Formats: sequence, structure tokens, C-alpha cells
Amino acid sequence: MTCEHPEFRAQVGVGRLSQVEGGPITHYTAEIAIKCVACGEPFQFLGLPMGSNAYGAATSVDALELRAAIKPQNGPEPPPGLPGFSVKVTTPPGAMQ
Ligand SMILES: [Zn+2]
Repeated sequence: MTCEHPEFRAQVGVGRLSQVEGGPITHYTAEIAIKCVACGEPFQFLGLPMGSNAYGAATSVDALELRAAIKPQNGPEPPPGLPGFSVKVTTPPGAMQ
């Protein structure tokens, strides 16, 4: 019997980032994961690049964790210069038949 996924649990972590070690906090990130309470199956986030982006949203490589840049409603935009990364999916030679 397949689960109809009637109820969910979200796990949310918030990261505080500074541009230099020990420096002032300039960036915040939310890390969100969602599972079905009934069967435990994790849900994937769709339509986003894989990686990390201090100025936008991305997912973990398995797409099970949303990593989104956030800021206080009345706070300033985060200053530029914090590096991120993205993962490019490539197909090994011979894998496509
Ligand atoms: Zn379920």
C-alpha cells in the first residue's frame, strides 16, 4: 500500500555567516528538510540548482535540503562577496545509450 503522505514534519536550521572568521554576521541561511510523518519518506525540492548560494536558493545534491538565503525583514541586503558553489551534473562517457 502506498502512503498518501497525509502529514509532514519540517526540520529547519538557520545559519549565521560572516565574511571573515570572527567577523560580524552579514548573512543568514535557512536549511529546510521535509519528511512525511506517516512513512518517513523525505521530499525533494524541485526547480533549483544544486549547491550553495548566499544570495538566493539552492538544494543539496540529493535535493532533500533547501538552502535559502534569508535576511531580517528590516535589515540590510547582505553585502556582496560571499562565495557559493553550484554542482553541475555530467554524464560519464558511454552512459547514454
Ligand atoms: Zn508518506
